[in-house]
Amino acid sequence: MNDAKIAGAAHPAAGFRPPITIIYIVGNTHSGTTLLNRVLGAHPEAINIGGTKNLQSFHAGLKKCSCGAARAEECPFWSRVGAEISERYGRALRDLHLEPGWSGFAADYVQFAHAVCTVSGARIIVDSSRDVVRLRHIRSVGGIDVIPVHIFKQPRAQHASYRRKGQGLGATIREYWRVNLKAVRHNRPDSPMIVVPYEAFCRDPARYVATIMAQAGSCMHRDQLERWGGADLHVLGGNRMKFAKSSEIRLDENWQALPLMEAVALDLTCLPLALAMQWKARGAASAPA
Ligand SMILES: [Zn+2]
Repeated sequence: MNDAKIAGAAHPAAGFRPPITIIYIVGNTHSGTTLLNRVLGAHPEAINIGGTKNLQSFHAGLKKCSCGAARAEECPFWSRVGAEISERYGRALRDLHLEPGWSGFAADYVQFAHAVCTVSGARIIVDSSRDVVRLRHIRSVGGIDVIPVHIFKQPRAQHASYRRKGQGLGATIREYWRVNLKAVRHNRPDSPMIVVPYEAFCRDPARYVATIMAQAGSCMHRDQLERWGGADLHVLGGNRMKFAKSSEIRLDENWQALPLMEAVALDLTCLPLALAMQWKARGAASAPA
């Protein structure tokens, strides 16, 4: 825990107990980010909000909350977050500058996080915005702790998921490198990330959940493995996994049906990166905080 950052948490939202912790998930779409988000968010001290990057689309009417609400005012959760921000800071939720690079991002992100925690009663926010640029900005915000988690699939499995959505082999290879290379480069001793191989997570989720929750200053809760599918959600973004009611974690092995030439091409182009991520994952999972 970073005492300097906590000490710097002097903020108008003084009624809320610090520190707020953000578990920030990085990874490709369809790499298990939504599943991991749901499992982590099932902890009694945590809330899964999907991705803050989706708030702009939500405000613009392009994305709905998982409860079906098309506008924040129609959602029982986001309307309360909006009311909290309005009451405490005299601003509207839609006016917060929550896009990386916008002036005032740091102060507005803290206001946003405090409002989410006040309304939900949680102290841990699981944000699966997935991109490293936003992570870098959130890490520079004082007054909150950030735990970055990088989840990845093996190249064949990632392509099998993309292929189901109609994506070609070339696009998979580009996306695999684009997203994961940024995460690998960000994962340095001075900005470490917990690396989670999707396949290993499905086989032994407790190992990874315990590691992440320990970093968040908490312990794994049984609901995270047994009842993550039962929670009411107000999630922005994510795939169909956000609607899952079952709490079963099942390894998707559709990659076994890939054409041989595509599988070989994936191995030749992406395996070195996958091995590098696998290597970083060994360190993270074997040495929980
Ligand atoms: Zn909602």
